[in-house]
Amino acid sequence: MSERIILVEDEVKLAQFLEMELTSEGYDVSVANDGMTGLILARESTPDLAILDWMLPGLSGVELCRRLRATGCKIPIILLTAKDEVNSRVTGLDAGADDYVIKPFSIEELLARIRAHLRRRTEEDNRHLLQFEDLSLNRQTREVFRSDKPFGHAPRLRTIELTVKEFDLLEYLMSNPRQVFTRDQILEKVWGYDFVGDSNVIEVYVRYLRLKLEQNNEKRLIHTVRGVGYVLREE
Ligand code: CA
Repeated sequence: MSERIILVEDEVKLAQFLEMELTSEGYDVSVANDGMTGLILARESTPDLAILDWMLPGLSGVELCRRLRATGCKIPIILLTAKDEVNSRVTGLDAGADDYVIKPFSIEELLARIRAHLRRRTEEDNRHLLQFEDLSLNRQTREVFRSDKPFGHAPRLRTIELTVKEFDLLEYLMSNPRQVFTRDQILEKVWGYDFVGDSNVIEVYVRYLRLKLEQNNEKRLIHTVRGVGYVLREE
């Protein structure tokens, strides 16, 4: 899927040129020619990156940037500016911009900055992702997916709803696939040092997890190692 970029630029010719260049690089580009339209566009189109001109009619690029950040928007934002003074740069960075490019700029430079910001973002996203076989877990959003393969259809992701402890247990097992964790290790890591109670709690939670992970007769991934503990592995 191509990455989505919004471009807010009031110089129509420049906007058209950039749109053409970005599109030919394979990005999905949406363009606005003023700040307010840009704000609406940014909220509606869930872009991966925004390029905002500094001087815009109505809402300036800096103000637009500030408003996006204030509403929790975390995408990379690049400001285009004709201003070259240090003060302006600081204002832009204070408003939450990640980068700025001074006009006139070469398209190669802008494209290189875009690639760098999108790559960094992908790397950050991947840091939160654990994957094993067809199972994936996002540590940040605490979501778990397993891919469904209905007969004759392309695989699609099935969301698995887990309780806090089920999630913690699965995250621990997924943190080191094929490593056998002892019951003590699991108790300590998932339930904490102070846990006093029935150590059957692990068996109970493993059973819950298996029921949810194997709801559609998917392959078993959490295995019991008799007398030792549990392991996440293929067979
Ligand atoms: Ca302008």
